[in-house]
Amino acid sequence: MAEKRSEPVVVIGLGRFGSSVAQELSRRGTEVLAIDSDPKLVQSLSGELTQVVAADSTDMEALQQLGVGDFYRAVVAIGTDMEASVLTTSLLTELEIEDIWAKAVSRQHGRILERMGAHHVVFPEHDMGERIAHLVSGRVIDYIEVGKNFTMIQTHPPRELVGEPLDEALLREKYAVTLVAVKSPNEEFALPSDDAVLMYGDTLVVAGKMRDVERFIDLV
Ligand code: ATP
Repeated sequence: MAEKRSEPVVVIGLGRFGSSVAQELSRRGTEVLAIDSDPKLVQSLSGELTQVVAADSTDMEALQQLGVGDFYRAVVAIGTDMEASVLTTSLLTELEIEDIWAKAVSRQHGRILERMGAHHVVFPEHDMGERIAHLVSGRVIDYIEVGKNFTMIQTHPPRELVGEPLDEALLREKYAVTLVAVKSPNEEFALPSDDAVLMYGDTLVVAGKMRDVERFIDLV
């Protein structure tokens, strides 16, 4: 499957989300066919994306003419126009695209997209909202979700761990989290050594189930 990763991707809907996805893929060397029904938007993106065309993705003939059925992977980045998002997804399924990613604006929208054959449904607004909430709370410096229930955060050591020799086993046993890396002020991140002692200014990377990591953050 590894070789499929860099195969060309078709991105449909070039609003803020879709155009960011298309540009980032391009920047990373993936060939992108970008489609939007708004000719002005297409025109404005033509300097940044090599293949960007104006077409209505709810029109099967248009998709076929563009050779969309030959793509292994597609991203449906239409949000507000739910009808267009759902219909486009169902046409991509009909074209037997093997890896369809679709953006949803609500849980209900997400469920419909799954029924229509989307293999991955993403909720950028909701996910970003959660991420920002964690950051705004001030306890978390950075945060990524790995799968549905697993997370990795950057944070400072909880008070009760400061000055104590780092005991991996205890961290696992007591908090059910894993310490992935530690950074002292003005130094680089490094794997934690068994005899390390955490200090106030340190930054930690901690991984674990969402609930456990949240409990760990609450100690901070
Ligand atoms: P964002 O938040 O990412 O800016 P959004 O959720 O507001 O986007 P929309 O504005 O609904 O999403 O759609 C994104 C893009 O999809 C728009 O540029 C719109 O022109 C395009 N789009 C909508 N319907 C179609 C369609 N049938 N075919 C192709 N593109 C479409």
